[in-house]
Amino acid sequence: MNKTLILVVEDDKSVQNLMVTTLKAHEYRYLTAMSGETAILETSSHNPDIILLDLGLPDMDGVDVIRKIRTWSDTPIIVISARSEDADKVEALDAGADDYLTKPFSVEELLARLRVTERRLAASQNEQKKDAVFMNGSLRVDYSAGCAYLEDEELHLTPIEYKLLCLLCRNVGKVLTHTFITQKIWGHSWDNDVASLRVFMATLRKKLEKNSESVQYIQTHVGIGYRMVKV
Ligand code: CA
Repeated sequence: MNKTLILVVEDDKSVQNLMVTTLKAHEYRYLTAMSGETAILETSSHNPDIILLDLGLPDMDGVDVIRKIRTWSDTPIIVISARSEDADKVEALDAGADDYLTKPFSVEELLARLRVTERRLAASQNEQKKDAVFMNGSLRVDYSAGCAYLEDEELHLTPIEYKLLCLLCRNVGKVLTHTFITQKIWGHSWDNDVASLRVFMATLRKKLEKNSESVQYIQTHVGIGYRMVKV
């Protein structure tokens, strides 16, 4: 029995039905809300494990719902958006969402996103137990020693590459936007920072994926940002 409690926030009845049917079939527990106000209330009274949030709600903008919830809760939020523009997703991610799905989406995609988020939750719980070392596949980051290893061999990283790697590891499973990353690394987000970021990310990725068969640790989300995948 899957014990994960999902809050489905969606005002379109047919999409809500599809999600609820999928959740039921996979033994998730669920709650539903059709407005932003109800979503906030349900979150505060039932403390769900994951929130699936439609951005286009009748009473308020989904991004404002995220901002409100983030004032007191870290519950993972997967944004569901009919809008194909990257800007909306970026705004939602910067407001504190963890991941996104674009409508129309398949049942498999929805389930895959939920699994990613559940793995991330489990990983962050383990992380709290032994905070000093991060493990992911054959990648190991020893935060206290300031060293990273791949298959027990030390990686030779520049200070910025190491900082980037730590940021991605600390947020494993979560899509980080360009703005979020450049703010954390350089303290600002100027136009040319995204170009520099791309260069550092390419060299970091080369070092991470040099001898691993086909393991991909860093996922690129074109126009949005990057994610460290839990392998
Ligand atoms: Ca809607």
